[in-house]
Amino acid sequence: MHGYTAPLRLRLDGDALVSNWRWLARESGAAACGAAIKADGYGLGATEVMRRLTQAGCRDFFVSNWGEAAALEPLLEQGVSLSVLHGVRTEDMAQALQSRARPVLSTPEQVARWRAAGGGACDVMVDTGMNRLGLDWRDDLSAMVADLGLVTLMSHLASADEDVALNAVQCARFRDIRQAIPARRYSLANSAGICRGADFHFDLTRPGLALYGGIPHPAAAERIRAVVSPQAQILQRRRLIAGDSIGYNATFTAERDHEVAILNLGYADGYLRGFSGRGAASVEGVRLPVLGRVSMDLVAIDVTAMREVAEGDWVTIDYALPAAAILSGLSQYELLTGLGARFDRVWH
Ligand SMILES: *Cc1c(COP(=O)(O)O)cnc(C)c1O
Repeated sequence: MHGYTAPLRLRLDGDALVSNWRWLARESGAAACGAAIKADGYGLGATEVMRRLTQAGCRDFFVSNWGEAAALEPLLEQGVSLSVLHGVRTEDMAQALQSRARPVLSTPEQVARWRAAGGGACDVMVDTGMNRLGLDWRDDLSAMVADLGLVTLMSHLASADEDVALNAVQCARFRDIRQAIPARRYSLANSAGICRGADFHFDLTRPGLALYGGIPHPAAAERIRAVVSPQAQILQRRRLIAGDSIGYNATFTAERDHEVAILNLGYADGYLRGFSGRGAASVEGVRLPVLGRVSMDLVAIDVTAMREVAEGDWVTIDYALPAAAILSGLSQYELLTGLGARFDRVWH
């Protein structure tokens, strides 16, 4: 595929990425601001995201597993750390022991495994109420983590994007843990947690979504800039005559004549069926609605309003994350991480 240019691309705004990180860093107050770059940088490409944020001053990165860590280790500059959120399985130990990345130990078994191997520097995740990953906050944690080379002790908020009592409950539990367990740093907040204020910041924050243009909280809406714009090329322009239908199962029937463009984009690229008859593209600010059902690799838009748009031209897909989430029934996270491997990723 050398030199191949795909008929669909993600236009990625490098200035917006850095500007979002800087805003989150300022909002984090005295705490350092890291970056969650798991799932290939939420679909944008973890290598480029890490390179750009390292250059901007970010020193703490988070991925999910050791496959992701291996791909990023060559980029690790002096003083930059990479933590592996899912800890270490038996299968990971050989790699983990000689890696510069640190595991985030999250089960008693992982702690025992790491200690038995003389593993050295590590992070620890404590569950404070989400009941997903982490040592149970009710357990005798001091005994469990004694003599580990503990760098960052962390927990994760279940409902940071909602005003619910659980946030304060988790925060109070985490403060108690901080009193009981010595670690170099303490870290609780994801993107939405940063917006909850200084009590939640501790020493290090871990935003993901908001770096990539997601709006985790209304307070961020004015400050977070969009980073990702999907663009697709027109494969065919055709005329729909009143009475014609379009696409699988003929869910749209024309009541008048339409001009239609068929785009090289579909649900296999993460443009899911929730956009059928609801999504839109735009050219020069003119909205071009999706007609009928999204196919695997194709979708039709109405270009009646744009006489000049022709086969081979590019259109930008409407993908403002909060609005697209409401429209499609997907979360902002799904909208980002679903963007498939067939997009060229082009940074500007
Ligand atoms: C994914 C993740 C984050 C980032 O969360 P966002 O909501 O995307 O900001 C932070 N911490 C942990 C443990 C995570 O798994």
